Formats: sequence, C-alpha cells, structure tokens
Amino acid sequence: MQRGRRKPDWLKSRPPSGSRFTEIKSTLRDHDLHTVCEEANCPNMGECWSGNDGPGTATFMLMGDRCSRGCNFCDVETGGMEPLDPDEPANVADAVAEIGLDYVVLTSVDRDDLADGGSAHFAETIRAIKRRDPEVLVETLIPDFGGDPEAVRRIIDAEPDVIAHNVETVERLQWPVRDRRANYEQSLSVLDQVDRESDIHTKTSLMLGVGEYDHEVYRTLGDLREVGVDVVTFGQYLQPSRSHLDVFEYVHPDVFETWRRVAEEEFEFLYCASGAIVRSSYKAGELFVEALLR
Ligand code: SF4
Ligand code: SF4
Repeated sequence: MQRGRRKPDWLKSRPPSGSRFTEIKSTLRDHDLHTVCEEANCPNMGECWSGNDGPGTATFMLMGDRCSRGCNFCDVETGGMEPLDPDEPANVADAVAEIGLDYVVLTSVDRDDLADGGSAHFAETIRAIKRRDPEVLVETLIPDFGGDPEAVRRIIDAEPDVIAHNVETVERLQWPVRDRRANYEQSLSVLDQVDRESDIHTKTSLMLGVGEYDHEVYRTLGDLREVGVDVVTFGQYLQPSRSHLDVFEYVHPDVFETWRRVAEEEFEFLYCASGAIVRSSYKAGELFVEALLR
C-alpha cells in the first residue's frame, strides 16, 4: 500500500502514438463521436486500440458528454443535458466499420432526464452495429436506468454480447463514491435481471484505493457471483482533479494480482482483469475472446 498524493512508478504509462492511433482519432472526428478512451485520457489507449494482434477495442460514449448525475470519482460534467442525436447510432456503426474494430464497448452518461433513461437509443446503437456487421462483438456498459427493469430489458432485447454494469465499489462506500441516486442493491439487481432473463455474459468493475477493506471486497465478489456475474475487473481509482474524491491509497500490483487469483480460482469468474491501470473495458475484446477459448 502507498498513501499520499504522489503517484507510484507502477502507474506511469507511455502516451499512445503510431499510425493506427492517428487513423482512429481522425475517423472519430469525422463522425463527431467521442470515446471514453480519449475523454478520460485512458492510459491504455495504445494497447486497446491496436489490440496487440487480437481484436482492437474502443469505448464509445453515447448520449452526450454531460451526465444527469454527479459521481464523486468521475470527471464527466453534470447537468445541462442536450437532446439525443438521432444520427448517433448510425454514426457509431459507420465508425466501427471504418476503423475495423472487432470488439466495441458502448457506454453512456446517465440520462435520468429522459423517460426511458436513453435505453431505446442505446439499444438502437447496438442493433445498428450488428446490422452492419453481425460478427462485431458488442459489449455494453449500461447505467442502472434508475432501477427500471423495462429499460434493462430493452438492452437485453438488442442482444449485445456482454452487458456490464459497474458496482464501482463495496456497499459501505457507495456514497460518497457514487451519486446518491446509485446504490449497491440497485446495481446488483440490474446484473441479476440480465442473468435471469438472458444468456448474455455479465460483467462489473470495482475501483480499489477508495478506502475499502479486504473483507468488503471479498464479500462483494460473493455477492456478484450470487447474481451470476461472469467477469469482474479491478483498477486503481485515480483522482481526476482536486475537487474529486481523494485517493485513499495506491494499491500495490501484488494486491491486484491476489484479487485476480481469488476471483478466478476461488469464485470461478470466467476471467478477472486486475491491475492498477485496468479499466472496465481494458483489452476487453482480447480477454473476452481468450476466456471463451479456454
Ligand atoms: Fe460519471 Fe457515470 Fe456517475 Fe455520470 S453516472 S457521473 S458518467 S460515473
Ligand atoms: Fe478505451 Fe477502455 Fe481501453 Fe481505456 S481501457 S483505452 S477506456 S477501451
């Protein structure tokens, strides 16, 4: 464990570069699209976008760049919601085809201002990608839709390959980590519904370093398996700015490796990606395909 403001060496990564990176960036601008990869200046862009000989992955952010919620760990701006762009589903599908991605992650801001939470728009984007190329694997990282099962069902009905929803942290720390409208039970029920109503793989992510105890992480793994979650990821929480939640500790790489083993060997998750710079969608395509081939 390392406390304090200075980032340890294991969190330093090389900035992305190369022709593939430039090519993807320019296609995204042509279609007026945003990725979480760029918005969050994710340290994994080099690896994810090129795919290391496996399927390349990028995470598209749908429904705007402003969120109706304000989680204390997240850098997305709150409020001032814009109407949905009806062309977005087709634009995302075009960009995926042009870039030649074989594994796409779709996520979105929360849209509590819309009656269906944006679920129909989200579902239409999945369908648009699959219509263009049914071979492209689509992972969705969905909001809790305020606990509305109809909204979750719309996503299930669009038949993505993976449905992820993040619990983000252990039960005790949901607040102050997440917005008050989010909570542990509600998130578990989203994952549970997907497991009960479909054969779609489910996935969730936790940030470590926000003050959680080991026994709480352990209990969370049990809770997640109980609702049938297949994949879990652990990454280090990094403070986006001074006004966000403080980092409680920088978790050592050996601890991340221990959680990976506990998740895969003891709790029998299909796979667990765990490491300081791991994000929910970290090399999602490569790891998912590898796990299915095991
Ligand atoms: Fe960020 Fe999602 Fe929270 Fe919105 S709901 S503030 S996008 S983490
Ligand atoms: Fe993008 Fe996710 Fe990879 Fe980061 S981890 S580069 S957000 S796909």
